[in-house]
Amino acid sequence: MDFESFEEIRLSADGSKSIPPPPPSSSSLRLCRICHEEEEQDTTTMETPCACSGTLKFAHRGCVQRWCDRKGSTICEICLKVRTLK
Ligand SMILES: [Zn+2]
Ligand SMILES: [Zn+2]
Repeated sequence: MDFESFEEIRLSADGSKSIPPPPPSSSSLRLCRICHEEEEQDTTTMETPCACSGTLKFAHRGCVQRWCDRKGSTICEICLKVRTLK
């Protein structure tokens, strides 16, 4: 039947797909979006000053302060939320 051969083709196409390896930087590292330095998760100099998510949400407190000073604005250009520094 035509259905069966179609199913076979679909399955072999799926099987030939190579599964991409997980990204080398695991979730145990934080990356400062401003200076791009990595940091272990158990250190606490990183902040999440705005509503961004994922790897973009982390930044050093000092980096955010410098960024805001340079831009003359505390609005995040990505999520458009006001950055809050605790
Ligand atoms: Zn930084
Ligand atoms: Zn943001």
